[in-house]
Amino acid sequence: MPYHFYTSELVDIIDVTPQVKRFFFRMLELTEFKFSAGQFVMLDLPIQSKITTRSYSIASAPGGNTIELIVSLNDSGLGTPFLFNSLKKGFQLPLSQPAGKFMQPPATNLETDVCLVCTGTGIAPFRAYLRDMVNRNVSHKNIDLIFGTRYEKDILYRSEMEELHKNLSGFRFVPVLSRETGTWQGEKGYVHQVYERLYAGKQPAIFYLCGWKVMIKEARERLLKMGYDKSRIKFELYD
Ligand SMILES: Cc1cc2nc3c(=O)[nH]c(=O)nc-3n(C[C@H](O)[C@H](O)[C@H](O)COP(=O)(O)OP(=O)(O)OC[C@H]3O[C@@H](n4cnc5c(N)ncnc54)[C@H](O)[C@@H]3O)c2cc1C
Repeated sequence: MPYHFYTSELVDIIDVTPQVKRFFFRMLELTEFKFSAGQFVMLDLPIQSKITTRSYSIASAPGGNTIELIVSLNDSGLGTPFLFNSLKKGFQLPLSQPAGKFMQPPATNLETDVCLVCTGTGIAPFRAYLRDMVNRNVSHKNIDLIFGTRYEKDILYRSEMEELHKNLSGFRFVPVLSRETGTWQGEKGYVHQVYERLYAGKQPAIFYLCGWKVMIKEARERLLKMGYDKSRIKFELYD
């Protein structure tokens, strides 16, 4: 069935780093945009007199008619240079109904540990999920968010995640930096060594992976090798 597209208006843009921006879209025909944390939307971008559709995970929790997307710039791509350089506040764009089944059914009364593994803007559905859990006061066991990026300055939603780390029981935020040298005291290297160490005891867990192909392919292989069943390994591929 074809997707329904709503008219959305870009109401705010926040620059996070030179390569990452947060975009806030309000659905003009709706008072509430219903979706489940983990889903994505498609944007129809008018580029060179053609429509170019690109998908983005919703980074905000359900509630209200405005959603947040967090996007990283692909300098040689078509869609993101348009989003970064041509889009201004007040611009209207067709934005699809929510799509995808990642992290469905929505978490309620979680009875097993959850391990979220992502790189870069792959954090988007996990941020939606965590905020939704807090909003709905969902009971849960341990939740680990293992976030991989290159440098400390690229850690997305850092203060928010550090706050959750302190205040949400059982939640651990573990940034892992592959290129940082200097004074960084946290995890260095890649996300893989971190979940392999934290889950070396093979405790019951469900793994959600989000980001680009190379990380997801490797994580699936390693988790299977560790003995986790493929039904416990869910993923959302960005390319
Ligand atoms: C479910 C999902 C969720 C995503 N969520 C996010 C997110 O939250 N944040 C984020 O930064 N990125 C996200 N992405 C990636 C995003 O959709 C884009 O691929 C990325 O922003 C690069 O777009 P680009 O147009 O700049 O690059 P391009 O290289 O132009 O395009 C990237 C991809 O778009 C497709 N594509 C390119 N040209 C065409 C064409 N002519 N016709 C059809 N398809 C084409 C190809 O799959 C290509 O690999 C997500 C992807 C998916 C599938």
